[in-house]
Amino acid sequence: MIYPIKNNDPALSENAIRLLQSRYLRKGVDGLSLETPDDMFRRVAKAVAQAELSWGGLQEVKQWEDAFYTTMRHLFFLPNSPTLMNAGTTANQLSACFVLPIQDSLENIFDMLKWTALIQQSGGGTGFNFSNLRPKDAYLNKTSGTASGPLSFIKIFDAATEYIKQGGKRRGANMGILSITHPDIEVFITSKQSNGVLRNFNLSVDITDDFMKAVENDLSWQLVHPMSQQGERKIAARTLWDLIAQCTWASGDPGLLFLDTINKYNPTPSIGLIDSTNPCGEVPLLPYESCTLGSLNLPKFILNTKSSREFNWNLLTETIKTAIRFLDDCVEINNYPMPEIKKMAYANRKIGLGVMGWADALGMLSIPYDSEEAVKLAERLMKFIQEQSHETSRHLADQRGAFNNWKDSIYAPDYPIRNATCTSIAPTGSISIIANTSASIEPWFGLAYQRKHVLNDETLPEINSVLKEHFQTYYPESHAILEEILLSGSLKNLALPTETRRLFKTSLEIAPIWHIRHQAAFQHFTDNAVSKTINIPESSSVADIKELYWTAWKMQLKGVTIFRDKCKPSPISQGLSAH
Ligand code: UDP
Repeated sequence: MIYPIKNNDPALSENAIRLLQSRYLRKGVDGLSLETPDDMFRRVAKAVAQAELSWGGLQEVKQWEDAFYTTMRHLFFLPNSPTLMNAGTTANQLSACFVLPIQDSLENIFDMLKWTALIQQSGGGTGFNFSNLRPKDAYLNKTSGTASGPLSFIKIFDAATEYIKQGGKRRGANMGILSITHPDIEVFITSKQSNGVLRNFNLSVDITDDFMKAVENDLSWQLVHPMSQQGERKIAARTLWDLIAQCTWASGDPGLLFLDTINKYNPTPSIGLIDSTNPCGEVPLLPYESCTLGSLNLPKFILNTKSSREFNWNLLTETIKTAIRFLDDCVEINNYPMPEIKKMAYANRKIGLGVMGWADALGMLSIPYDSEEAVKLAERLMKFIQEQSHETSRHLADQRGAFNNWKDSIYAPDYPIRNATCTSIAPTGSISIIANTSASIEPWFGLAYQRKHVLNDETLPEINSVLKEHFQTYYPESHAILEEILLSGSLKNLALPTETRRLFKTSLEIAPIWHIRHQAAFQHFTDNAVSKTINIPESSSVADIKELYWTAWKMQLKGVTIFRDKCKPSPISQGLSAH
């Protein structure tokens, strides 16, 4: 290991400690913590390193336990929340992401409801495609009655999630998908228009390339019965397109999933078509697949020399090696909630390494988010992470063997690799708070935050740390400037050079196309997908939304979520990623 470790471990932020105490640290019956944050990192490292016993001796176990502990304790890398919460406990369920298949039978639906409850209780999120269900009012053989349609079942899953509350630790999250050819598509598109409805679901329309071409050429669109495959109604493609954009404008839902693009990059096409993702969209998965995620904390990899600031590529390489091994070890020791999920996990061994702190890293490098330089760096960085991740997974394949489905995968016969996918960009809604950095690849949402004091619960405004350091370094009168920013929460009233203003633009001040371009830059070098909210100003029009959707498809994104400021209090993906 080449970690630059000093004698004393770095301090965790007060916010991180609060969050860990309330939701991550093991507690006794009296509600008091049984462990410190240090103990938590040690528990996780120890549990995950047990996987090493399958290939090595006790010495390897100890060596990797220490490496895992160090990389987490120094916040170079953090796994997704379920791993931090559950590794080494009786639950030991480590994955944040699951997809379950929904078939057109009451028995199957209620079986899946049960598994959903158990997955969510252990901290995992679930995604479903409801397109196999017969439409509302279709005939039912068994009872001679009529079907209630996909929406009624989505409501049942939503209600179940509402009551599970995941042991008080974590809110349940779901992704609900319906095909653009399903006869109930209009009801689905409009289903989240009133506040508070389906609050535990993100909804996405599964859009095909054919549909986009039908919109382009103003053609009529055939809706199809999912069971008989017979044509039902026809409707103008542009009418559906308008409806989607209007609903997104009004409520942030639905988003779009581009399943043709997803399947173009499906690593195991002969095993099956992918028709769903996890709740925030960063992992397209086959039925019964799961995925454990982890994220590199980018600001920790910035070399700060007097003349220049750059990524420390050597440290990144070492950390990627450790992180990919950690995630592959998770596949091995994970306590899977159902036998089908265990089988799929061993068959494909999907894992997802991503990043957090991108906005902070750009700020430290003095590169504005809305610049060509930032997009180029995003591509260079993610290409590097992707290559190193694959390199490590190939190395693991030499030692441990390729994933079981490898022979039937796009990698065979020349590219033995341990994991069908290695990379994914998660929202990092909670782990970015633990790492005290900006979430995922999102720009800053604000420059000053309200922070509760750990001991006396007093709320104090706190300034973005990158901005603080910038002003302290470059402005002699920084104290007065920082006071003003604390008061107003913005740079609005300050006489500052254009470059400084540009560097500290927040999410809604950045033109939406730059949000899309960052998502595309990361997506082009990510095996799975990128979770990103395209935040747009309140004044944006329905036409703006259509244009952004169109651009997202053209840029080969796998999915897209747009949120117009103030259109709704707090959709799930927004709530998960904003802090
Ligand atoms: N997730 C969930 N409930 C939550 C937050 C997240 O089920 O309250 C799942 C969901 O599948 C999401 C994934 O965890 O896509 C990753 O979310 P995030 O990166 O925000 O999780 P973190 O590890 O930071 O808690």
